[in-house]
Amino acid sequence: MHDRTIEAALPMPDSPGRLFTDAQLHARACIVCGRPSGELLRAGHVRTEVRPGEHLVWAVVACPEHRGAAS
Ligand SMILES: [Zn+2]
Repeated sequence: MHDRTIEAALPMPDSPGRLFTDAQLHARACIVCGRPSGELLRAGHVRTEVRPGEHLVWAVVACPEHRGAAS
């Protein structure tokens, strides 16, 4: 069963208008720049609001140059 909750980029409640891609939310790309390859480091978590009052928390990664900015 495919997980449909991650098919679209989700709005970030803390950053209005900012969208993250499926790859970013699944730790396959830098959460800041979206770089999908190279060294990716754990960068904490982001929270997305899928519906008012309903949130998902994602463990995300960042490339070395953006790791500090993402946490
Ligand atoms: Zn980056």
